[in-house]
Amino acid sequence: MSGTNKIQGIGMTSQRSRNRLVSKLREMGIKNEKVLDIVAETPRHIFIEEALASKAYENSALPIGYGQTISQPFIVALMTQVLIESGQMRKVLEIGFGSGYQTAILSRVSGQVFGVERLSSLVERAREKIWELKISNIHLRHGDGMMGWEGHSPYDAILVAAAPSFVPEELLNQLSEGGRLIIPIGINENQKLMLYSKTDNEIVEKEIQAVKFVPLLPGIN
Ligand code: SAH
Repeated sequence: MSGTNKIQGIGMTSQRSRNRLVSKLREMGIKNEKVLDIVAETPRHIFIEEALASKAYENSALPIGYGQTISQPFIVALMTQVLIESGQMRKVLEIGFGSGYQTAILSRVSGQVFGVERLSSLVERAREKIWELKISNIHLRHGDGMMGWEGHSPYDAILVAAAPSFVPEELLNQLSEGGRLIIPIGINENQKLMLYSKTDNEIVEKEIQAVKFVPLLPGIN
């Protein structure tokens, strides 16, 4: 298949399947039209193994190797919606970018996206995908995201796709005035998606909903 055909998809990876996913997200409460358009336009199937491609436009998390998963489309859409509806998106940091799918979505609503991932094999794979899609405002790094990415801070928005038991202080420090951190907090079945917003150097927290993410782990691999 040529590069373009591979990205466009056929059969279970075609535009029709993507549109069905968008209808499902709408039913589940995603209302932001910009987010829905971006989900319709972003080829999720290229971020997963070919053997699983037929499931790419189902609303489910799927394995991407190394015990990690590509996030459920509803969660990707929800986190993106919360961030774009709560403030600026000039500089955005994503921790635990895994496959790079959420990163590609964020790149459409952000000035620059900086990503940190602790598994080097996933970093390489995500870089290839971003290159294939010719996205130029994404900067990916191999590292421990608990420490954020200080060099480019402060960020208007930080999105974390793995759950720590407490909010990492360093991530709050790297938020700009008006900045927001969206992050799952908790262990196993007891996780909550939280939004922390910084105004006048005070942090206001808001609970969004119960969620299930892989754990945020220390160190790199
Ligand atoms: N949104 C991604 C989710 C991947 S799963 C996607 O849809 O593909 C969560 C990712 O967080 C995994 O790739 C895991 O390796 C990564 N991760 C866990 N702890 C981390 C840490 N301390 N720093 C950076 N990445 C981390």
